[in-house]
Amino acid sequence: MAEKELHTDYDMIVFTAPSGAGKTTVVKHLLNKYTEKLGFSISATTRDRREGEIDGKDYYFLSVEEFRVLIDEDKLIEWEEVYPGKYYGTLKTEVGRMLETGKKLLFDIDVMGAESIKEKYGDRCLAVFVKPPSFSILVNRLRDRNTESPESFKNRIKKVKREMTHEHSFDYVLLNDELEDTLRNAEELIKNHLS
Ligand code: 5GP
Repeated sequence: MAEKELHTDYDMIVFTAPSGAGKTTVVKHLLNKYTEKLGFSISATTRDRREGEIDGKDYYFLSVEEFRVLIDEDKLIEWEEVYPGKYYGTLKTEVGRMLETGKKLLFDIDVMGAESIKEKYGDRCLAVFVKPPSFSILVNRLRDRNTESPESFKNRIKKVKREMTHEHSFDYVLLNDELEDTLRNAEELIKNHLS
């Protein structure tokens, strides 16, 4: 795990990664482990709901029209068209609500969005890049996940290539090779910032 500098006063922790690198698994693990101290920033998205996902828990699933209203009314801290026609964004209300509870806010967002949050909140925000062991392993993981159409799979791979070059924008690089080790390292990292 690469470390740039140590702060303990973050109130936001952003996990980002190229698609398929395993960040959602890491984020879910941390939320289970530190339920009392961490809150999840539920994003808005226009992508279809996957099996098992719950509206208002995993995401707020919106139509493109509803999402446009959020943009027009300036209700998003950041938003990206992560895949063609698929919008994702962080709601101002989510951040406000969670910070009021005194919990640290955990984000699971794409690389561009994470860069925006880091730029906006600077030292209040710990930004962690989850790195897959290699590009080909990541492609295989994404294929095994089998959640994408061929077209969407192609788009994701294109994006992954671009995102793999951005790890240096973040405070920590967390290598996700063996999941057990990654989860332990993530716990250690977060524990240091929860005290
Ligand atoms: P998925 O469709 O697999 O849930 O997510 C696709 C990508 O969108 C992931 O990298 C996820 O972290 C990212 N994402 C989720 N919510 C947001 C958000 O609010 N803003 C941005 N920029 N990306 C997001």
